[in-house]
Amino acid sequence: MDEDILKEMQKYGRFLEERGLNLSSHSGNMSIRRGDRLYIKRRGAMMGDLKEEDIVETGVEEDDSGVIIASTEVGVHRAIYKKTSSLAVVHAHTPYAISLSLVRDEIVPIDDEGKYHLKRVPVLDVEESIGSDEVEKRLPPVLQNYPAAIVKGHGTFARGENLEEAYNWTTVVESICQVIYLVENLGGDTRREVDW
Ligand SMILES: [Zn+2]
Repeated sequence: MDEDILKEMQKYGRFLEERGLNLSSHSGNMSIRRGDRLYIKRRGAMMGDLKEEDIVETGVEEDDSGVIIASTEVGVHRAIYKKTSSLAVVHAHTPYAISLSLVRDEIVPIDDEGKYHLKRVPVLDVEESIGSDEVEKRLPPVLQNYPAAIVKGHGTFARGENLEEAYNWTTVVESICQVIYLVENLGGDTRREVDW
């Protein structure tokens, strides 16, 4: 594995942890695509303190290598790479996005920066949200049209050309949800139609 893959994963894993973007310490995951190879966080590895042995190499196509210890979401990551041109994916258990997704069917930004970046944030409502075939099937088509989406009650999935971009979309979605939460708690009107 290239040294830069490890460094990137460590850097954004630490950022996710330090910014409170990933609820429990060993949850969430990230991956990088290089050609037909996929580098993904090991199942149960600590997001904020990733070591070399915490990054698992496997194939973008079905490939048994590394899969047993790879993240539970490896199937979802593969499906995203097959259906989009992404080269990196970040999945985080973002507290505000998770909370808001439990009470809204879709999220429309109300703050100016959020509106500038995204017209809406799709919320995917599925029966089984963790490591599920349903998410594998239904999430990638959504990510063909949006850089990030929330799996209801579970967390964000964001894609990009590199981890920085996928991380950035994660922060954009979480910020949008945080502002809605704060404004709602101040008694403000946070319900918006999508302004196409
Ligand atoms: Zn998860």
